Amino acid sequence: MKRRTFLLGSVSGLSLVALTACVSPTPRPSASVTPKPTSAPSLVPKPAAMRRTSWSADPFARGSFSFPAVGATPEQRDALSQPVDDRLFFAGEATSTDAFGTVQGARDSGQRAARDVIAAADVGERIAVIGAGMAGLAAARDLQDAGFDVFVVEARNRIGGRIDTVTDTDWPFPIELGAAVVRRTGDTTLDEDLTDRGVATAPFSGVPEARTAAGAVVEVPDTGAQAVATALAWAAEQPADVSIAQALADSGASKLSTTDADIGVSDADWLDYQITVVLDPKTGAPVAEQSSWYSAADTAAKNGADDDGADDGAGEDRIVLGGYATLLEDLSDGIDVLGSSVVTRIAYSDSGTSLRLGNGESLSADRVIVTVPLGVLKTKVMEFDPPLPFAHRGAIAALGMGTLDKIWLQFEEPFWDTDAPLWSTVGVVDDFRVWINMVPLTGEPVLVGLVTAEAALRLAEVDDDEFLAAALTSLEPFYAGVPTSTPTPE
Ligand SMILES: Cc1cc2nc3c(=O)[nH]c(=O)nc-3n(C[C@H](O)[C@H](O)[C@H](O)COP(=O)(O)OP(=O)(O)OC[C@H]3O[C@@H](n4cnc5c(N)ncnc54)[C@H](O)[C@@H]3O)c2cc1C
Repeated sequence: MKRRTFLLGSVSGLSLVALTACVSPTPRPSASVTPKPTSAPSLVPKPAAMRRTSWSADPFARGSFSFPAVGATPEQRDALSQPVDDRLFFAGEATSTDAFGTVQGARDSGQRAARDVIAAADVGERIAVIGAGMAGLAAARDLQDAGFDVFVVEARNRIGGRIDTVTDTDWPFPIELGAAVVRRTGDTTLDEDLTDRGVATAPFSGVPEARTAAGAVVEVPDTGAQAVATALAWAAEQPADVSIAQALADSGASKLSTTDADIGVSDADWLDYQITVVLDPKTGAPVAEQSSWYSAADTAAKNGADDDGADDGAGEDRIVLGGYATLLEDLSDGIDVLGSSVVTRIAYSDSGTSLRLGNGESLSADRVIVTVPLGVLKTKVMEFDPPLPFAHRGAIAALGMGTLDKIWLQFEEPFWDTDAPLWSTVGVVDDFRVWINMVPLTGEPVLVGLVTAEAALRLAEVDDDEFLAAALTSLEPFYAGVPTSTPTPE
């Protein structure tokens, strides 16, 4: 949708948003299926199959990944990772200082928590791991291999957490509703581990193709990146951390021309591009909440959970094409996983720990590793008795949880005419600003749209038809007209 079109139509649009925002969302699983949507008010053809996510509404995630919120520090991740009385141990991507927001960070954190337990416990002790995501299963694997009596308690009826591979007949290859990319964050071996298991991956780094509302392909200048760099340099001199939005405003870096150049894109549009296509997907959060001191723009190499492929200078990322969950199946082999079991309370003392489940049952263990997402810890649905130390509570409150949602669309045939694997738009107000084109990666006419930050929170509350309509509108700059293979009437 063109920017000006949106401004003219914004009154009804905002009213609708306000109305939907008043309705409390019913917790629902992260993904829902609508194989054949019925209405799609767009030039873009209807897809044959669709799958969407709503990670913020997912009661066992409450967001997609942690991010550096304004005022939070990396030391708080470290604080969150500290054992409490050698009874409670913490893992999960949010406890990783150098690879938070990633699968690699989650795995590292699980292995670190296992080492902490091994250092504090006697072999043979009974260890409970809460959460069967990458962190929990990595911890459980190492502990079981080291001779501990391990069991995993998982709220969902599946393992994997924010790795959610769907393999079914609606799709020509396994699709990823959560993590899809192996981030080149430091020394990851995830790609090799996947290859060893016969799981296909493909290189996935590079600058996305950028299009205007009219569909023109444009070079991305460094206007937006420079404005953000100026704002961050200004913020680094301030006595306290401020948000990137505030840094942009107070440094004057956001004072850019709003006059369209020949291509219909202004300098201000390029700053918006830097924010919505580059920064927001890295964090899942609006710039008003992102730290300027520990910005994802600076820590891109550390925070790999970005836009599923935009070049962050951290080396070559690889997109997983054959099922990320394969890693989890191997990790969980022979591990006792108690599914569909929500932990609501953890009591701990010198003599051991006790878990209460949502169905009223209790379980005991010598020690517990907690790997539930930061978003879940923030909701306080899990009670700790005694309460966690201030340092842990401070970290939970301060660190941010961002949202990135996906829509997977399968078409009968491509309606687009670009071979670029990664797309973006500039000078528009559409919700899905980044797209992955699976044709060059798999040969299949499948697209993946990404929606982040405020737009993701707003769309989490709409039904599948509205979600799809927003996605198809966002795809209009890529619509190449009637496919050439469509038969023309005599
Ligand atoms: C849409 C999306 C895209 C992403 N893209 C990438 C990417 O491309 N590359 C990348 O590296 N990372 C990506 N990430 C991040 C990555 O998925 C996570 O960092 C990683 O999977 C987190 O693993 P974890 O074990 O820390 O947490 P989780 O996988 O969330 O595991 C925690 C587990 O705890 C369970 N749980 C929650 N509450 C309870 C309870 N009360 N009782 C019992 N169990 C409970 C949950 O169900 C879950 O299974 C993405 C995430 C999302 C959502």
